[in-house]
Amino acid sequence: MVRKRIVILALSLLAACSAQPLQSTTPSPGLPRVLAVETYLADIVRNVAGDRLIVDSLLPLNLDPHSYQPAPRDIIKVSKSDVLVINGGGIEAFIAPLLDNAGGSRLVITASAGLTPRPDLTGEHPEGDPHFWLDPNNVIKYVENTRDGLIQADPQGSQVYTENAAAYMVELQALDVWIKKQVAQIPPDQRQLVTNHESLGYFADRYGFTVVGTIIPSVSSESVPTARQLISLIDRIRASDVRAIFMETGANLNLAGQIAGETSAIIVTDLHTESISDANGPAPTYIDMMKYNVNQIVNALK
Ligand SMILES: [Zn+2]
Repeated sequence: MVRKRIVILALSLLAACSAQPLQSTTPSPGLPRVLAVETYLADIVRNVAGDRLIVDSLLPLNLDPHSYQPAPRDIIKVSKSDVLVINGGGIEAFIAPLLDNAGGSRLVITASAGLTPRPDLTGEHPEGDPHFWLDPNNVIKYVENTRDGLIQADPQGSQVYTENAAAYMVELQALDVWIKKQVAQIPPDQRQLVTNHESLGYFADRYGFTVVGTIIPSVSSESVPTARQLISLIDRIRASDVRAIFMETGANLNLAGQIAGETSAIIVTDLHTESISDANGPAPTYIDMMKYNVNQIVNALK
C-alpha cells in the first residue's frame, strides 16, 4: 500500500512537472549561444532574444561585478559563447584577461555603448560611473545595442529581435513613468540618498534626488573609506537631516551601523543594484528589481 502511494505520488509529481514549460539547455543548431555578464543584463538580453536564443549569465546571482574574480568554469562558459554581452563602462575589469584565456572569437556587444558616463570625481575610475542601468532610460540604449548586435550575429532573426526590442522599450518607458509617480510621494526636501557605494547617480539625476554621500566614496564597491571621509559623511547626514542609508545586497553593514549610530538615519538593506534575485525573491527581473528598489526608497523617505 505504501509503495502504491509512493508510485501515485511520483506519477502526480511527474505530471505536475511536465505541465511546466521546459527551458531547453541545448541551443538550436546554428543559432548563436549568448552569454551576458551580469544577471540583470541577461534578463534585458532575454527580453530582446525572446524564445529564439538561449541566454545565460556569466556571473551567478547576487555577486558583485566590481570585485568578481572569474573561476575556471567562467573561461569554459566564455569559450563556448558566440555572443558576449557586457555592461561596459569599466565595471567588468576582469573581462579582457578572461577573453584572452577563453581564446576563439565571438561578437562582444557593449550594452552601454553610446551613453555618456557621469564623471567619477574621485578619479579612481577613469571610465566614469558604470551604473547606467539604474536609470531605465539608459536601458533603452542597452536594448538598441543588444538588438543591433543580435541582428548582426543572427540576421535571420532580425524581425524577432526588432519586435521584441520595441515591445520591451515600451515596458521600460512605462517603468520610467511609474518611478516618477512613486517618487512624487516623497517630499522634495527628503529626496536625499546615502548609499554604500556610488551606484545610484544616474537614478538620482533622472528622478530628482541628491546623493548626499556614499560610505565608500567611489563608483566601485572595492575601495575603503578613510576615517576623515566617514566623519565628513556623518556631518553631511546630520546637516541635511538624511533619513536613510541604502545598502545593496551583500554589502558590509558595519560602517553603516556606526554611521546610523551617530545620526538619526535608519539603514535600509538589500537593495538589488548589481544583481537580480532568484525566481522566488523580490527582484527576479530587471523591471522587478527597479520596482523593488523604488518601493524601498519611497517607503523609507515618504
Ligand atoms: Zn556598483
